Amino acid sequence: MAKLTVEDLELKGKKVLMRVDFNVPLKEVDGQQEVANDNRIVAALPTIKYVLSHGGRAVLFSHLGRIKSEDDKPALSMKPVAQRLADLLGQPVTFVPAIEGPELEDAINKLEDGQVLIFENTRYADVVDGEVVKRESKNDPALGAYWASLGDIFVNDAFGTAHRSHASNAGIAANIAQTAAGFLMEKEIKFLGGAVENPERPFVAIIGGAKVSDKITIIQNLLEKADKVIVGGGMAYTFAAAKGEKIGNSLFEEDKVELAKQLIADAGDKLVLPVDAVAADKFANDADSYVAEGDIKDGYMGLDIGPKSVELFKSVLADAKTVVWNGPMGVFEMPNFAKGTLAIGEELVKVTEKGATTIVGGGDSTAAVQQLGVADKLSHISTGGGASLEYLEGKTLPGIAAISEK
Ligand code: AMP
Repeated sequence: MAKLTVEDLELKGKKVLMRVDFNVPLKEVDGQQEVANDNRIVAALPTIKYVLSHGGRAVLFSHLGRIKSEDDKPALSMKPVAQRLADLLGQPVTFVPAIEGPELEDAINKLEDGQVLIFENTRYADVVDGEVVKRESKNDPALGAYWASLGDIFVNDAFGTAHRSHASNAGIAANIAQTAAGFLMEKEIKFLGGAVENPERPFVAIIGGAKVSDKITIIQNLLEKADKVIVGGGMAYTFAAAKGEKIGNSLFEEDKVELAKQLIADAGDKLVLPVDAVAADKFANDADSYVAEGDIKDGYMGLDIGPKSVELFKSVLADAKTVVWNGPMGVFEMPNFAKGTLAIGEELVKVTEKGATTIVGGGDSTAAVQQLGVADKLSHISTGGGASLEYLEGKTLPGIAAISEK
């Protein structure tokens, strides 16, 4: 990959600004905020440890939740995160309760090689004296330049915000000599970027989930890049309607029918649609259901792909060398309608074992593969919901564009 990574940097004695994704859930225990789930902190440890063990002086920062008023600030302080990070790193972490000013500057100047500090939630900058100013979220140039002035080099390891141009990613990068990807960011670029830019073929994309309107740009982009695009989930019924099939009470977007017809006509056999559905008489796990081939009976709705679709999709996946999956094949939250999604997850494990690169592109599909217990058997599970969607749409992500080339 052509982007600079943390391993390319000379770190010893350097003040290393590090944008991490510590946007973690908090919970209140005895009136104090505590980290409720530290997965994201654990995930960032390799990059942080690398910088510290190579003599860098790490200055960490992240956003945490959304700040819309002064009242939001106390419950969204980074302090509990700093505590948990210290526990996980097994070394002291200085917490600076400020995002700018002399206290922060002094603390950074006092850092020694291998030491780490974290400053306050970057989104504190979005509200100043009670006024919503979005200095962080709207990338105020002065703020990015100020933060850049605090360090020598910049490591961005926060893929989840890479699709946004914020002061704490693009703003700093525009004002500092070198910006490098951390290990998490590097992995996302390697897998998601590699799949859409330079996939080993056959490249098969599987798109599911609720709505055509949410995923249409992805389908269009991947129809250009992939060898086959499988469409399942709720959105498949708008395509079925476009083919003239009866879809009962299934999810349906009338204003997307023409577009679906167009895609079917243009894509030919590149677009692979379900050939049957598990149709239910209500949106509930205990619904009365049957397998519908073609038309769905009045009063019934398609909640999962049927067994023949599973076989068809498996045959398309069989010789794939790269697979990107975004969105479930049905209402996987209900066990009776999770079979299609489960079967695809299991098939992906098989093709991974045969040497294919398999990538799950964030959001609900990530939840699905975790629920199915197959997450650790696939090549890559993307962590960024919005960011991975925009990557698959073929958009340029400002946070990634701002990383220096090697
Ligand atoms: P998305 O966020 O677009 O990936 O959509 C995920 C959601 O789509 C999940 O909550 C699924 O339950 C839902 N979904 C998938 N298939 C269907 C379907 N056939 N009917 C209704 N909802 C569905």
